[in-house]
Parts: sequence; C-alpha cells; structure tokens
Amino acid sequence: MLEVVFLGTSASAPSVRRGLPATMVLYRDRRFLVDAGEGTQRQILRSGMGFRRLDTVLLTHGHLDHILGLGGIASTFERWEATERLRIHAGSWALQRVRDLMEVVLRGENLGFKIEYLPLEPGIVLQTGDLEVVAFPVKHRGSGNFGFVFQEHSRRPFLSERAESLGIPQGPVRRDLVAGKSVILPDGRTIHPDQVLGELQPGTKMVYIGDVARVDDLVGICRGADLLICESTYLWSDLATARQYGHLTARQAGELARSAGVKQLILNHVSRRYPPREILAEARAAFPSTLLSEDLQHYAVFPGRVERVHRGGGRDAEPPLPSPDLSDEQLEAMLGGA
Ligand SMILES: [Zn+2]
Ligand SMILES: [Zn+2]
Repeated sequence: MLEVVFLGTSASAPSVRRGLPATMVLYRDRRFLVDAGEGTQRQILRSGMGFRRLDTVLLTHGHLDHILGLGGIASTFERWEATERLRIHAGSWALQRVRDLMEVVLRGENLGFKIEYLPLEPGIVLQTGDLEVVAFPVKHRGSGNFGFVFQEHSRRPFLSERAESLGIPQGPVRRDLVAGKSVILPDGRTIHPDQVLGELQPGTKMVYIGDVARVDDLVGICRGADLLICESTYLWSDLATARQYGHLTARQAGELARSAGVKQLILNHVSRRYPPREILAEARAAFPSTLLSEDLQHYAVFPGRVERVHRGGGRDAEPPLPSPDLSDEQLEAMLGGA
C-alpha cells in the first residue's frame, strides 16, 4: 500500500487555493518528496506530516516552479537539524540548478546536514522493503525530464492460521518460509513454503508524471497502474498553447489513462484559468475514473483501488468537487488593492 499527499497542485504560479507543485509519497516508514515548489515546507506543516524522515527528494525536472521550495527546506533543516542528510535525485540539468540555488541559500552557513546530489538515469532509483522506485524519461521543455513508477513487488501472504494448525513455531522458521525456503521443524517434519503461503498477490503500482509534452510513448510504462497522477495544464481548446509550452491537455491525460488501463487517474498541475468542473469533464469524457487533485488531499493506494484519507482517519472514494479558484481579474484586483 502506498499513500500520497498533494502539497501543491498549481501549474507555473501559485493561486489562492493552490500551491506550487509538490507531492509526498509515503511507503511504510519512508517518505519521498516529489518536486518541491516554493512554499512546500509550509504545506508539509499544514498537512500535519512534519519534516521527520523527510530525506529523499525526487525531481521531475528543473523548472523553478518545481524546485524553489528546496531552498526554504534546506534553510529550515539547517536551523532545526531535522535530518542528517538530504538526498536529491534529479536529471543533470535540474541537479545543477538545485546546486546553484543551494549555494546561494546556504553560502557561509555551517551546514549541520549533508546534501547528496544524485543524477537520475532511466531505471531503478532506489529500493526499500518491497518497493522499487523507477525513473523513466519524459518529453518536456529542456533535457533530463523524468516521471516515476512506484512499484510494490508481488508477494504471497503468510497464512498464519495454516501455520498454527501445522504447529510451526514463531520466529526464524516462519521468516524462512516467507522467504521461500523449506524448513525442518524440531520434531523432524519438513515444511515447504507452499504449505503456508497463499496465492501470489500483485503489489501496488503508482505512476507519477510531472510536466510532459506528449504521452503516446508512456502507455507501456503506465500499464495497469492502480493510480496514475498526471499533469493537466490545459484544455483541449488550447492544444496549440499546450504544445508550445510542452504541456498536456486534460483530454490527453484521460486518453493515456484509458489506453494504459489504469484504475484511477488524478489530474495535477492545473491552471486557474479553467473552472475545475471543465477540467474534470474533459478528462472524464475519455476516462471516467478521474479526480482532480487539491492541495492537502491525502489518498491511500491499494492494488485495484484508491481511497481518500481524511485527516480524522475516515476514508471515502470520491472527494467533493473543488470550488472555482479566483479569476485573473479577481486576483489582479486583490493585488492592486494591496
Ligand atoms: Zn510546472
Ligand atoms: Zn516545467
């Protein structure tokens, strides 16, 4: 099971309702921060998660709306010593930009933690427990843009009732059986893994696609995902503009989800130029199981289903539709009045 918390869901610039791109992925005791737009650290606090165990950052690319938050996070870590090291995985251009940013932010500071800059290549980025995080290249403006697959291994559950009835003691013997090894019990009986392991169960698969210009080459990588998170910056009526800036329309995101046979699509990186209802309607015409992310929404992803997690602990499948953001005119009026 994976969890995902949307920290910032806006495209390019923040809006009143939406912060700049940042998403937290949780797996057991690990946390992965995917992108870190300006204001991310405050969103982390608002989400109730805090900074504990936040030591791994995965960047989709190096555009400023996705990385500027790292300066603030590093500054806070520097003061609070919240972590011993921060590992930043990114394409080489993005990584250089983050290095430059950190140099300015942390110049002259006596850094109490280590920052590791780790260049991304297509393939496995890291493995932890039964989870594998894989980077894959995507096309956007510039070079070194990546998406990420979070794939839990398939596994056979341990049938403890069966083990009890066979009189298998707790401890290392059971561990060996789970690891697929036959064991000999103290009374001389040999127990094979098949006697205590259930049917193979698929692990959770989640795919995260940040800014992206085209997705026809990503169907295979998204195939069968339980959750696809994908940018959705424009509507189909603005396809020419989407192409010009290397972005996607809601319809294209929906079509990708349909072609790849994913279970659930959540649209991200949305522009306040469109009413949320229109963005959703366009994607849902291609793929009905579509939701629109909002800042601080929290989801649990299981094999075959995605559930909303409420801060109080309850879950439901469908969040309420967000109300429209402020229009450009309203925002300008507010800025002018400030
Ligand atoms: Zn962006
Ligand atoms: Zn971008």
